[in-house]
Amino acid sequence: MRTVYLDNNATTRTAPEVVEAMLPFFSDLYGNPSSMHFFGGQVGRHVKQAREQVAALIGAHPDEIVFTSCGTESDNAAIMGTLYSYPEKKHIVISRVEHPAVLNVAHQLQARGYRITELGVDREGQLDLDELRTVLTDDTALVSIMSANNETGVLFPIDEIAAIVHERGIPFHTDAVQSIGKIPMDMAKSPIDMLSLSGHKLHAPKGVGALYIRKGTRFAPFVVGGHQEAGRRGGTENVPYIIGLGRAAQFAMDHLQEENTRVKALRDRLEAELLKSIPNTMVNGDVKNRLPNTCNLSFEYIEGESILMLLSDEGICASSGSACTSGSLQPSHVLRALGVPFTAAHGSVRFSLSVYNNQEDIDHVIATLPPIIQRLRDISPFWKDYVEGKPMSSFLTGGDIEHHVHG
Ligand code: PLP
Repeated sequence: MRTVYLDNNATTRTAPEVVEAMLPFFSDLYGNPSSMHFFGGQVGRHVKQAREQVAALIGAHPDEIVFTSCGTESDNAAIMGTLYSYPEKKHIVISRVEHPAVLNVAHQLQARGYRITELGVDREGQLDLDELRTVLTDDTALVSIMSANNETGVLFPIDEIAAIVHERGIPFHTDAVQSIGKIPMDMAKSPIDMLSLSGHKLHAPKGVGALYIRKGTRFAPFVVGGHQEAGRRGGTENVPYIIGLGRAAQFAMDHLQEENTRVKALRDRLEAELLKSIPNTMVNGDVKNRLPNTCNLSFEYIEGESILMLLSDEGICASSGSACTSGSLQPSHVLRALGVPFTAAHGSVRFSLSVYNNQEDIDHVIATLPPIIQRLRDISPFWKDYVEGKPMSSFLTGGDIEHHVHG
């Protein structure tokens, strides 16, 4: 069966060029980059080159790049490293649609006595910047707002947000895990203080990431140990993966244009065709300000998980913002924050593309999905009620459902 992989916001294929660049560092080039001898030194030079490649991708200085184990660690380090260096401040500001790597750190801090402000979003997934202005105080240690949302692809105006935050002398971090490699980001022109990125979202392997820390930003290490990463992150460098991330940064620069032309055109065609051929379908999120690869659609009155299973049977990989666990319905915290009606939030499916997708992939989904939706609606009591004009049950309007944010 042909595999059509449209779940690139979950993880990406490691590019063959990246694998090739990594291989010598599993065998011959195994030295420790911190060692004094020539054998470690030659590895150190490759790590330096990888740092330059990652810096070049985001318009940073190589000294401003700290290698980490993943996007989650970068997010944790940005928040905790800032709090450690402003011990007197007890307030942080985030958005309600952050990834759990930020959201759950904030919740844990709240349990330890910090004050957390979670900014809400409107129906398109956008923030109210006037609200942001009003919540900042002298006690605010950090504002952390993602660059692009992983579920909807909605982009936040992070440069504008950073400027507002700076007016109050507060540092600004962005989780750019989903935007790096998909849209241009240039720290030389942006006021952002810290930025998280993750290898496996840009065709490097899982388990490597980086945190950009602008020169002059107050930061204390989150992973405490040796003097690696100029004292900002202890632990012997994961050399092969760092080399892979460097090569993937180069790959991302080489393919950025393609992401925003060919890949975007594939996404747009997929979305337009599905909207045309399947009734009661809607796009979630701000369609004008979105990643070029992401499409989040809701098919009303059916379950996203059932759609995913039937797509999977046809070789198509996507994901859903709806999860049904132990009988309690829990659409994602992102779709709930957008106020997507329950009838639609449950039937949400995210398609996320990469440069490895082609027209045949999209043709396969366009041909396969409409009959799947029809099949599921044919057995859906909610669709039957809708078609017959009967009132919706509280089950579908969310009347009986407990609301709480989950990871
Ligand atoms: N932030 C965002 C927006 C993400 O989408 C993800 C991964 O899904 C992460 C952080 C976590 O990255 P990692 O899987 O490298 O820990």
